[in-house]
Amino acid sequence: MAYGFTAIGVAQIIAWIVVVILAVDFLSGVFHWLEDSYARPETPVLGRFVVNPNIIHHHHPRDFVKSPFWHRNIVTAMLGGIVFVLAAATMGITWQLILLCGIGAFCNEFHCWAHRSAEENGAVITALHRLRILQTPRHHATHHTDPKNRAYCVLTNYTNPVLDSRGAGGGILLDLGGAGGETLEMLKRHH
Ligand SMILES: [Zn+2]
Ligand SMILES: [Zn+2]
Repeated sequence: MAYGFTAIGVAQIIAWIVVVILAVDFLSGVFHWLEDSYARPETPVLGRFVVNPNIIHHHHPRDFVKSPFWHRNIVTAMLGGIVFVLAAATMGITWQLILLCGIGAFCNEFHCWAHRSAEENGAVITALHRLRILQTPRHHATHHTDPKNRAYCVLTNYTNPVLDSRGAGGGILLDLGGAGGETLEMLKRHH
């Protein structure tokens, strides 16, 4: 291990963990925003495995809690695996890459915890919510509140203010014509 157990080494590891978590949170939020805003239920493959389950989740959030573990994690787990293989082949394997792909692969499970009660989550996850280390159920509830175009990041409470400011402040992300949220609202009228 390159760091050793010095105070600086431990601080560096903690800093890396924070950076990796925030990076996964922000990137998964960007994908979620693109999915909610532009993906269509008719899109081949994506429509069936990603878009439709996502629309159902927006309107019936608790169904997702009762679904089997692999049902809610298979798509991101495959994506995390692909990113890991590509990055490992080009840049080598680091613990940061393993952490990044591991959290990314199961980011929907963290999302699921935000829909479960404290009793369902147990003491450890509930403590992580109360300490604001993981995204709180109350924060995630804003994503399920009309017009459902905020709080796309699901890991922490800290990246959403940055991503959400794309509409209000503009310029952080290319908003492809400012359509964020509209497609979802259009789809909702058909459900
Ligand atoms: Zn959404
Ligand atoms: Zn949700």
